[in-house]
Amino acid sequence: MQLITLIPGDGIGPEITKAVTDIFAAAEVPVQWEEQNAGQTTFDQSGELIPQALLTSLEKNRVALKGPITTPVGKGFRSINVTLRQKYNLYQNVRPAKTTEGIASRYADSGIDLVLFRENTEGLYAGLEIFDEHNGIADSIARNTVAGAHKICRAAFAYAAKNGRKKVTLAHKANILKVAGKVMLDAAQDAAREFPEIQYEEKIIDNMCMQLVTKPEQFDVIVTTNLFGDILSDLCAGLVGGLGVVAGANIGDDMAIFEAVHGSAPDIAGQGKANPTALLRSALMMLHHIGEHAQADKIEKALNLTLRNKAQCTGDLGGQASTSEFAQNIIANFGK
Ligand code: NAD
Repeated sequence: MQLITLIPGDGIGPEITKAVTDIFAAAEVPVQWEEQNAGQTTFDQSGELIPQALLTSLEKNRVALKGPITTPVGKGFRSINVTLRQKYNLYQNVRPAKTTEGIASRYADSGIDLVLFRENTEGLYAGLEIFDEHNGIADSIARNTVAGAHKICRAAFAYAAKNGRKKVTLAHKANILKVAGKVMLDAAQDAAREFPEIQYEEKIIDNMCMQLVTKPEQFDVIVTTNLFGDILSDLCAGLVGGLGVVAGANIGDDMAIFEAVHGSAPDIAGQGKANPTALLRSALMMLHHIGEHAQADKIEKALNLTLRNKAQCTGDLGGQASTSEFAQNIIANFGK
C-alpha cells in the first residue's frame, strides 16, 4: 500500500475528492490516503493556511492529490499552489490535453493528443517585482536559470522518449527576449541533441497560439516557460472541453502533486453538481507516476465509457447525474 497525501481543498473540493476516493476504493487500488487539508476552510478553522502537519505528510509521502483551493483576489494570502511549487521545487507543470468522445468542444473531431510541459518555478513568476513609486516604474523580472531551463527541457524530452511520443515543440519568444528566451532555446536544443530519436521544432509563441487554434492535432509534446505555459495550458484545455475535464501535475525530482486545475467553484459547492473528471484524471496520472498502470487503465476505460453516455454524466457535460451518481456510474462500468 502506498501512502498518498490527500488535500481535499475548498468549495467543491471535498465532493470531487470523495468521488475519486470512492472510485479508487471500488477498484481496490493499493493506495492509502492520508488526509491533510490546506486553504480557506483550514484557515477559518485553525488560523493556519498550510498546516505543518500537511508539510510533514508531503515530505514523508512525496506524492499527493490535491483539490482546488480558494485564493482571494488582490488581497489575503499568496496562492497555496505557488507556495508549494516553490517550496518543493516542483519545476514541471504537466498538462495533457486529449480529445475524448462524449466531451463536447469545437475541436471534438480533431484527434488532439498533446502534453504541455510548463516550467513551474521561474520566468516571470520568480517573484522579482519592484515598483518605483517615485518615478512610476513597475518592473517584473523574468528570471530563467540555465539549470532550470535544462531541467524542464530534458523532462519534456525524457517524457516523450518514455511514452512513445514523436515530437517536442519549444514555444518561445527568443527573437525579442534575447536573454531569458535564449536560455530556454539553448536548453531545448541541448536536450534535442540528447534525444535524437525525438523530432524537435521551435515555434515563436504568437505563431504557436495561432497554430494551436487552427491545427492543434500537429502537436505532440510542447515545452515552454512559466508565463507562456500558464496561458497555453488553459488554451489547450479549451481545445478539449475546458478546465472541468483536464488533468494537471506539479512534478519535481522527489515530489509530485497531482491536482484538479479548475477552481473551487463556490457557485455550485455543496450541491452535488460538480464534475469530478478533472480530479479523477489527475489521480490517474498519479497512478501512472507510482507505477500502477493497469489500475489506471482500468479506471480510465470505465471513465471513457461513462463519458460516452451523456445521461450518466454531470450537468456541465449535458447529463443529469449528481457527483456521486457519476462516480457510481464509472464504478458500474469497470471491466466492460
Ligand atoms: P472556477 O474554476 O472555480 O469556476 C469557474 C466556473 O466553472 C464556475 O461556473 C464553476 O461552477 C465551473 N466549474 C469549475 N469546476 C467545475 C467542476 N469540476 N464541475 C462543474 N463545474 C465546474 O474558477 P473561479 O470562479 O475563477 O475561481 C473560484 C476560486 O477558485 C477562486 O478563489 C480561485 O482563486 C480558485 N482557484 C483555485 C485553483 C486551484 O486551486 N488549482 C485554480 C483556479 C482557481
